[in-house]
Amino acid sequence: MLFGRKKKNPIKIADKGVVDWKYTTCGYCSTGCSIEVGLDAGGQAVASRGVGGADVNRGKLCLKGIFEHELFTSSNRGSVPLMREKRYDPFREVSWDQALDKVGSEIQRIQGSYGRDAFAVVSTGQIMTEEFYTLGKLARGVIGTNNYDGNTTLCMSSAVSGYKRSFGSDGPPGCYDDFEHTECLLAIGSNLPEQHPVIFWRLREVLEKRKFPIIVVDPRVTMFAQMADMHLPITPGTDLVLLNSLAHVILDEGLEDHGYIEANTNGYEDFAKLVAQYDPTTASKICGIDEDTIRNVARTYARAGAAMTIWTMGINQSTHGSDGVVGINNLNLITGNIGKPGGSSLSITGQSNAMGTREWSSCSGLPGYRALESEADREDIASFWGIDPEFFPKKRGLFQTDIFPAIETGQIKGLWIIATNPMTSMTNTARIRKTLENLEFLVVQDAYQDVETNEYSHVYLPAGLWAEKEGCFTNTERRVNLTRNVVPPYGDSKPDLWIFSEMAKRFEQGRKMRFPETAEGVFEELRQLSKGRMLDYSGMSYDKIEQQRGIQWPCTEGAQTGTPRLYVDGKFQHADGKAKLIPLPFVDNNERPDEEYPFWLNSGRVVEHFHTRTRTGKIGNLNKFSPTPYMEMNPDAARALGVVHGSYARLTSRRGDAVVMVQLTQRVPPNMVFIPFHFHECVNRLTLGLLDPHSRQPAFKHCAVKIEPVADQQAASVRNKAARTY
Ligand code: SF4
Repeated sequence: MLFGRKKKNPIKIADKGVVDWKYTTCGYCSTGCSIEVGLDAGGQAVASRGVGGADVNRGKLCLKGIFEHELFTSSNRGSVPLMREKRYDPFREVSWDQALDKVGSEIQRIQGSYGRDAFAVVSTGQIMTEEFYTLGKLARGVIGTNNYDGNTTLCMSSAVSGYKRSFGSDGPPGCYDDFEHTECLLAIGSNLPEQHPVIFWRLREVLEKRKFPIIVVDPRVTMFAQMADMHLPITPGTDLVLLNSLAHVILDEGLEDHGYIEANTNGYEDFAKLVAQYDPTTASKICGIDEDTIRNVARTYARAGAAMTIWTMGINQSTHGSDGVVGINNLNLITGNIGKPGGSSLSITGQSNAMGTREWSSCSGLPGYRALESEADREDIASFWGIDPEFFPKKRGLFQTDIFPAIETGQIKGLWIIATNPMTSMTNTARIRKTLENLEFLVVQDAYQDVETNEYSHVYLPAGLWAEKEGCFTNTERRVNLTRNVVPPYGDSKPDLWIFSEMAKRFEQGRKMRFPETAEGVFEELRQLSKGRMLDYSGMSYDKIEQQRGIQWPCTEGAQTGTPRLYVDGKFQHADGKAKLIPLPFVDNNERPDEEYPFWLNSGRVVEHFHTRTRTGKIGNLNKFSPTPYMEMNPDAARALGVVHGSYARLTSRRGDAVVMVQLTQRVPPNMVFIPFHFHECVNRLTLGLLDPHSRQPAFKHCAVKIEPVADQQAASVRNKAARTY
């Protein structure tokens, strides 16, 4: 009997007229999904679909990937270079030569007047690895500024710092395949279903076949928390206390892997002495998780045959983010959960190529995980590039979060911003605006000319976007994926690689150096420079990467494929080959709610948006889900303040204020509100952003606000520029 079903309209997928599908890699998040873009007979990109044979996504895409082809023609793409003499004057269109000559001469003027480091460069986690490497060659080898960093300081630098402190090097040791083997998964500060939907789907696939405990630590009842076996609604900023206490229980009850600790780590005695102070009774009073739960989680984790921890910004964006990562590594070292299937400390990265910048951009050192502090590394790269090793500084310069204060004090006079948007992404944006106004010269390079930071620039360079170019991204699990060129760059915009190489020609030293013209030519330099190193690319080629749908480094010369896990032999990158167990005392140093500002302000990502909405705000099928800024608020707290669902409320912190729409939900406790961080003139008008001492990453998630209803919705929407539409 099909009568009922016959009456329903079947789902019809419109024929988009695709005549050719082009292989490439998604350019949003670090999951690294293989994607095919469909071109119609006129060569227009009209559809996107996942690649079935790709191990990462196995045919799936999330909402952002499904509509990614629409980016090529989205509104306010930059098509020609723009220039103006004075900030806020109208821009005029200029040729590429005029724009590049101007930028080159301004860099030389500023460096000639104030010193080499007076010109700074801040880049991104979004461009190709080959572009990062070329930018590093330009910034370190030609321009010669030591104040050069990426926006990954806002998201991943705590993970980098924590890996280096524990294991002697950056590089996530595990992979997605660990889900297939693990017997316990601990997720701290990671809302996987919304932030990394395809990684979450991989986990769900495994859970449908085999049950194992999922423990989610998050102050908010996220989607991930809702499906967890145990949800630990921790007091914000106290992860380290919980991690120390878990280690306390494990050591106290003799659940540690003594053989692994003995063979592969040092520092055990000092570490054990420190965690002895974090008994569950004491810890529970600080972190808000009851002592029985702490004991239960510690026993579950330590008794599992293999256990893994994943984390994202809930750990990293804190004044002790680096310590939090080391705390996770400590937990996995004492339980022998590094380098084995299902046992890992796996930081889930944010941007599509945050890993590529860590490996090759030279922001924090020199290419291929080389250090400015090492004479041998400086000589290595200087000889490869054909320059004097003395041209390099002997230690890294300022992080992004220290570059802006250095502009305030006049130490830095000129800035080049590449594919990042600090006017929305940095904490305390009112201060950032004044900082940018202090610059003698600002150049913004971006695919979109309406990116908010461009309001303060003197020169705008329109860059090609995602698959308008070719090159590699490295994903969360060290997998090098290939982004094939699908369509030409929009208008007269140019690939970032071309812009960097052309800029090098404006400098005497740059004219003497070799800058390969193609991405594949640059990739050959990466292969040579990585040979025999931890991140060995020498066994890879573009065709091999495409055939295998990504290859995980290291992939040594002659190897058939890559390496899923690091540290399998228990040999780490510290000089003695051992990992470090590091004691981590907890210092409560953040702003906390008080009588005047009684609410915790928490922030994070939603599935339909990416970063500062520069792209997703222009895709109708994404933006429609959350076109205006809003906050999640607990109904009991709202009732007490007279705030109702769907109305507007003003949040005020000690830095500024923002107006948002109210969404009442039990996902947040009564003393907390949550705001997606994507909107301009919104959450970062409020944030304080104290910095982690190791990673210089801001504590985006920890500050205090007060809330009041706003009666006039009209005034509210006008007042808040965050509600802008494109
Ligand atoms: Fe792209 Fe990430 Fe979505 Fe995959 S999960 S389609 S990589 S945004």
